[in-house]
Amino acid sequence: MAWSGVLLIVRALVLLQLIPGILSWGKEGHYAVCKIAEGFLSEDALGAVKALLPDYAEGDLAAVCSWADEIRHNFHWRWSGPLHYVDTPDYRCNYEYCRDCHDFRGHKDICVTGAIYNYTKQLTSGYHNSGSEIRYNLTEALMFLSHFIGDVHQPLHVGFTGDEGGNTIIVRWYRRKTNLHHIWDNMIIDSALKTYYNSDLAIMIQAIQRNITGDWSFDISSWKNCASDDTACPNLYASESISLACKFAYRNATPGSTLGDDYFLSRLPIVEKRLAQGGIRLAATLNRIFASQPKISLKHEDKRPTSCILCLLCHTIPFLSVALPIIFSCLY
Ligand SMILES: [Zn+2]
Repeated sequence: MAWSGVLLIVRALVLLQLIPGILSWGKEGHYAVCKIAEGFLSEDALGAVKALLPDYAEGDLAAVCSWADEIRHNFHWRWSGPLHYVDTPDYRCNYEYCRDCHDFRGHKDICVTGAIYNYTKQLTSGYHNSGSEIRYNLTEALMFLSHFIGDVHQPLHVGFTGDEGGNTIIVRWYRRKTNLHHIWDNMIIDSALKTYYNSDLAIMIQAIQRNITGDWSFDISSWKNCASDDTACPNLYASESISLACKFAYRNATPGSTLGDDYFLSRLPIVEKRLAQGGIRLAATLNRIFASQPKISLKHEDKRPTSCILCLLCHTIPFLSVALPIIFSCLY
């Protein structure tokens, strides 16, 4: 290929990285979530995670936390794009799995919460039924799950359909033109790093960790809990996110507005708490998945026969494995 062709491709790739809003929590946000999670993993979960991580991660979950973003625009992984978010009806400020979890063509269960259920189930069944006929790529399942639990905590990953979670709301972040979604993915964290943390992500993570053992210490056990003793409970996290999106992300951020100190200083505490919650809950979910004594709720056990029939189809249509249990839980 001629050099001009190579240069064109390189330019296109660079431009793709610069288009705001097409990624999720930026690299820093996902790294922080996974780094915080690492500190709360049980011995069993840490062993299982290290065994599943690809060699290039060198045993560090945080190193692969953005993998799902890195591959999503690759042709072979394009199907995974809609798994990074869930959109709700405009101005409703609430989330419902059955109403909202679908892709833009209306395919059910194709959204961030559906993906969390799916990959939790793959890891649980793969870990506890090593002799089972169904073989998943558990390394990919772990990397997807770790990423999506981060994503669902970014308030605008559970935003309105009409503005694509803030992606079409063009505003200024101080003097720079961008969109509201990108501000929540990257800019608030970037500005915090520059303003308070000497541009050092490790220092910012340490500050969040100090809050976890300090001001937030009494909240940690409630953050970890799943309402009905399930292994994963992404619906709760999505409900919190749309509520925060309405109260903080969308408020005073109309198209054309300039967001500066007032917005930054009042929203940064929300971002830092969501990173902390994402990390604590990722660890709690992995601890439940990789518990030596699996703790699967009776509710889900009861539905196993139907979900197992669907599991036969999982090889070709992975997301069907979660469809029926969730549809049933919505109907009951
Ligand atoms: Zn993402």
